[in-house]
Amino acid sequence: MSAYDPSSANLHAPAPVTRDRAAASPGALVPVTVAHGDGIGPEIMRATLAVLAAAGARLAIEEVHDVGERTYLAGHTSGIGPSLWESLRRTRVFLKAPITTPRGGGFKSLNVTTRKTLGLYANVRPCVAYHPFVATRHPGMDVVIVRENEEDLYAGIEHRQTADVVQCLKLVTRPGCERVARYAFEYARRSGRRKVSCFTKDNIMKLTDGLFHRVFEEVGAEYPDIAREHLIVDIGAARLADTPERFDVILAPNLYGDILSDVAAQISGSVGLGASANIGRDCAMFEAIHGSAPDIAGQDVANPSGLLLSAVMLLVHVGQPDVAARVHNAWLRTVEDGVHTADIHHAEVSRRLVGTGAFADAVIERLGLEPRQLPVAAYAPTPPPAPPSHVSAPPRPVKTLLGVDVFLDWPDASPAQVAAVVEPLAGPDFRLKMISNRGVKVYPDGFPDTTCVDHWRCRFVAPVPLAANGAGGAAVTHAQVLAVLERLRAAGLDFVKTEHLYAFDGERGYSLGQGE
Ligand code: NAD
Repeated sequence: MSAYDPSSANLHAPAPVTRDRAAASPGALVPVTVAHGDGIGPEIMRATLAVLAAAGARLAIEEVHDVGERTYLAGHTSGIGPSLWESLRRTRVFLKAPITTPRGGGFKSLNVTTRKTLGLYANVRPCVAYHPFVATRHPGMDVVIVRENEEDLYAGIEHRQTADVVQCLKLVTRPGCERVARYAFEYARRSGRRKVSCFTKDNIMKLTDGLFHRVFEEVGAEYPDIAREHLIVDIGAARLADTPERFDVILAPNLYGDILSDVAAQISGSVGLGASANIGRDCAMFEAIHGSAPDIAGQDVANPSGLLLSAVMLLVHVGQPDVAARVHNAWLRTVEDGVHTADIHHAEVSRRLVGTGAFADAVIERLGLEPRQLPVAAYAPTPPPAPPSHVSAPPRPVKTLLGVDVFLDWPDASPAQVAAVVEPLAGPDFRLKMISNRGVKVYPDGFPDTTCVDHWRCRFVAPVPLAANGAGGAAVTHAQVLAVLERLRAAGLDFVKTEHLYAFDGERGYSLGQGE
């Protein structure tokens, strides 16, 4: 293949991360854990495994059955029984069919649990148009979305703090940002791509999304051969939906990446074609992007392509690029020949409407053939090196405690009323710098129109600000924080949360209240 081919079919290539596996002798069977899932899961998995076997995939399949809806309903809140973990400890590679998450409270997302437990930090989703064989408004689309997979609002830390207010913590870490940013640039370099576009909302979330953006720039500077750009996620999403051809690799934090990758998959043609790899340092999980489609389960009409193309990514990952290309090319030829399942069937281009099993048979019949019009899939014979799993270890910054935000639960109060009670309780160690409600400063100099709820943030800082740097303020102690909390308690106030205000190497480590 040429060094760069924008319509390259070689985009289903995640990094093989398990060195031992890649180094295993070519004929050795690679153990892979397989879960058949719910809904359409068993039928699309059967179709996928049939193609893999016919293509000569050198895999030792370990089937696990305690995963999914029945396991949830049997009392495992994560939908995962012990045999999955036991198998994955050995295989480190997971091919997963979609799972039905039972409705109602108490059930955790199996996907989120698996990604976090196995440290699968990068979610890789190629979104490709197969024009003119699959109808799409974006014939030239060829985008890979690399989504951070473990952090952000998906940390799952939520609290109800007052009658009116619930909270979800958005956690973003420097090592987490660095790992996924490096993966995105390594992926781009390895697959002959030219540009990585990072989407964040750091004009609003200056610390969390700001860190993601900053680390993207730092890591990107190590890859001068790859262009990089940053877009605010709202305009980025609009451009992706409008002109996806302008993008190559997109890097995004967890929530934006989750939403964007579904949009991208849909506009490329069909969610039924979308494949994904979840990549970690030592483990990887491969799955279609769609769900268990209970509306069409058991009817032999589901498109197995999303799972089959995920299996192609798996084959590359485990060091079988020859089989990966064989399967991928037979699949491309099948689509080109107009052998289509109902979800992609169009009278103008389709020649044969087939079910799940017949589609797999059609792919098997074409093993050894290549597409005539679509780009031929080709994977490097030797697995590329894994992306470095290390993260940089900058010296720990000097951390200075400058004050504390105390959140009070106080219904039916006015800013003046809260200030009148709280302000005298600040001293002698602190002064009340401001009170905010839902992030808007309401004292001093609030605006009477601001809508307030029962959740007041009172910011206490040292009485004599040093103001020598952006953070400003003299250091305070934990004992002084406890003392002010004790004064609030003694006054009968209900504090529901505290957040310390720190400076790191003199740089303010907290946001200012709007209007502060
Ligand atoms: P879905 O993706 O299952 O279905 C959405 C629509 O797309 C349906 O009309 C369905 O018939 C169609 N569709 C999906 N896959 C198809 C395929 N391969 N071929 C043809 N048509 C296909 O989404 P949903 O209905 O929101 O979710 C159903 C269940 O799947 C829920 O329980 C959800 O929690 C679960 N889910 C699981 C995963 C996963 O395991 N990775 C991902 C998403 C949703």
